[in-house]
Amino acid sequence: MRPRRPASFRAIASGVAALALLAAFSGSALRAGAPTVSGASASLAPLPALTYDGKLTQGGYIRGKAPPGAASAALGEQSLELAEDGGFFAAFDRDSPDTLELRVTLASGDIARETLSITPRKWFIQRINLPKRPSGASEAWWKRREPEYNAIVAARAARTGAQGWRQDFIWPVKGRISGMFGRQRIYRGEAGSYHSGIDIAPGNGVPFVAPADGVVVLAATGFSLEGGLIIIDHGAGLNSAFLHCSRIAVEQGEAVSQGQYIGNVGSSGRATGPHLHWSLKWNDARLDPLLFTGPME
Ligand SMILES: [Zn+2]
Repeated sequence: MRPRRPASFRAIASGVAALALLAAFSGSALRAGAPTVSGASASLAPLPALTYDGKLTQGGYIRGKAPPGAASAALGEQSLELAEDGGFFAAFDRDSPDTLELRVTLASGDIARETLSITPRKWFIQRINLPKRPSGASEAWWKRREPEYNAIVAARAARTGAQGWRQDFIWPVKGRISGMFGRQRIYRGEAGSYHSGIDIAPGNGVPFVAPADGVVVLAATGFSLEGGLIIIDHGAGLNSAFLHCSRIAVEQGEAVSQGQYIGNVGSSGRATGPHLHWSLKWNDARLDPLLFTGPME
């Protein structure tokens, strides 16, 4: 049996506002952890504290700090980038399992483990009594699509060292929300792909801003699905994509600050009307932007 050191490894309380939507998700971050510690040394000295705070739910995230000298950290199978100050970011996919293990390997060789409980969400599901549209893309279509797809994958894999992941995100633009993250249609029992971002419809041509600091890793026009597309790396594996832009005001490689004007809302690419589709990804996990900004005021 592994020794348990409940007092030495704890989660801190956050100052999360009592917003009804978010309150349900923040509670689980406030519990004191009772982690299991194992490893090379059997020293009896208490381990330094590991702290984290965030939204422990599907589509949510945590920001945390590992003890000084921590060698590595991981969430489940995913290794985390540890900043020089021990800061780290981790997130939970739309379809995350109910529990994930957060693991920090200390300089001593000790491994501190804590099982995180990830609150499941009730996604908006529409059951449609129609057959799913055939998705078989033609060779000609894929010929056009493949370089676009490759550019997006490469952009999202870029690591710029941006620090925006540390910030509280702001809305890129405010307006009617015309599509929530995660909603999904099921066609006669066959699941369609879920909505990977949030749609905001403030009107055609309305300017929008960077929700957090970052570096532009893709600024492209004329993509077949996305139209005018901006991707911003916020660092630590976290990035934003903005689709259907009518104008792009930044260039690839440019550093942008939170609140900086970066483009205008449009309906380029595959869009039924002018709106900004904003999606957030951490590595392969798709995240809910609403959990980063809080409700629109
Ligand atoms: Zn959308």
